[in-house]
Amino acid sequence: MYLYNSASHKKEEFVPNHPDIVKMYTCGPTVYHYAHIGNLRSYIMEDVLEKYLRFLGYHVKRVMNITDVGHLSSDADTGEDKMLKGAKREHKSVMEIARFYTDAFFDDCRKLNIKRPDVVEPATNCIDEYIKIITKLIDTGYAYLAGGNVYFDTSKLKRYYIFNDHNEEDLAVGVREGVEEDANKRNKNDFVLWFTKSKFEDQALKWDSPWGVGYPGWHIECSGISMKHLGEDLDIHCGGVDNMFPHHTNEIAQSESYLGHKWTNYWVHVAHLNTADGKMSKSKGEFLTVSLLEEKGYDPIAYRFFCLQSHYRKSLVFTWEHLDNAQKAFEKLIARIAALAPDDGAVDEAALAQYREKFVAQMDNDLNTPNGVTALYDVLKAPANGATKRAILAALDAVLGLRLLEKADALREKNAKAAASGGAAFTIVAEDGVGDAAVEALIRARAEAKRAKDFAEADRIRDELKAQGVELTDIPNGAKWKRG
Ligand code: AMP
Ligand code: ZN
Repeated sequence: MYLYNSASHKKEEFVPNHPDIVKMYTCGPTVYHYAHIGNLRSYIMEDVLEKYLRFLGYHVKRVMNITDVGHLSSDADTGEDKMLKGAKREHKSVMEIARFYTDAFFDDCRKLNIKRPDVVEPATNCIDEYIKIITKLIDTGYAYLAGGNVYFDTSKLKRYYIFNDHNEEDLAVGVREGVEEDANKRNKNDFVLWFTKSKFEDQALKWDSPWGVGYPGWHIECSGISMKHLGEDLDIHCGGVDNMFPHHTNEIAQSESYLGHKWTNYWVHVAHLNTADGKMSKSKGEFLTVSLLEEKGYDPIAYRFFCLQSHYRKSLVFTWEHLDNAQKAFEKLIARIAALAPDDGAVDEAALAQYREKFVAQMDNDLNTPNGVTALYDVLKAPANGATKRAILAALDAVLGLRLLEKADALREKNAKAAASGGAAFTIVAEDGVGDAAVEALIRARAEAKRAKDFAEADRIRDELKAQGVELTDIPNGAKWKRG
């Protein structure tokens, strides 16, 4: 498999350090609020990467941190701790906030069919690890104490910027516009490893340390947690592109200075999901969460489908119209799979191997999920029986995670029930003369709900159709519909 490595700026063949295991680390969420669907784009694509590695036969150990302390409002070590901000906003304790939003994050992941990493570790669990690393960094001259805080000394490195050839002045932490300069820093890019004195006295969580009572900086978390669970080397480290600088740059600086050797081989960064008017935000404009998508009648898996239709290294623009199109295409895909006969003969193993190979050729090319999705349509067109097509789809979906057969079977069952209870006599008229299996399946399901006197469900389906732009009119023993 070839993966684009942000550290070498090119696609490289993926070769793990150890033949028996792939060590994968993902920067997890800062649990001060719900994740927005931009954050979740990163987690979906990282999930596909993990599932694809497993599909290829690798044994993967994946670790993710939960940031519950130390991530300040600005990545440049200034501003308030985001967790404290969340706690104040909701008049709760930091730990209550952390627990609530960690659960909310994994609820969203479940809805998006994102597998839980093998190890999930809250930052507040690993204080001893950070103290151990920081102690050695001070002893070996890579870190210094100033104004009560411990800083990493970036001037000690031969090469600090790994991911880009930055213009130092543009990106220097501490001198960016609107960011206050920290007078304790010897060099403008130095960053905090351990805070004891900061501008805010009311930090909720503090621990004893050789440098006084305080708390860790954000970057040291990922180095400490990764080394605790994965040892001194990593195959793949992932995160969104915004994590490249300063977060991942600082992780490399401190980890390699501590270890005395190379730490991570492949750096994989997911491009951002943006709104039409710019960056996605939790505070400005519409706060786009998985719950909001559901409230508006969208299937979270249709959002996953939307993400897979674009390559992970291209930034993606979210609009409701784009999501509508993705949901319609996804429903059509499910309706086509539901129409396959599940047991019309034996599975053609040769065809299964052939389509698997075609899929691998696409995904091996830096995880080309848009072509991976196209492969699903090729399977539907294949000269094979239903059982074979279903077997191939199941194999590919182990990577794509679209719950294809589960959804198709549920739809078929729904249609069968409707037909059994007289639904077959129910007439559906598409006013523009163009049928749509997914829309018609919903109209039938609504008729079925009405027959069963489940009017809440019937209304919900009508709303779902409305959200798709479908206008419905009841006619005697049937319904007619058009696109609004
Ligand atoms: P945070 O909870 O802010 O620490 O971010 C969690 C993850 O989401 C990180 O990997 C970020 O790089 C990523 N991320 C943040 N904003 C976006 C976005 N708009 N699109 C994609 N990924 C994002
Ligand atoms: Zn991290």
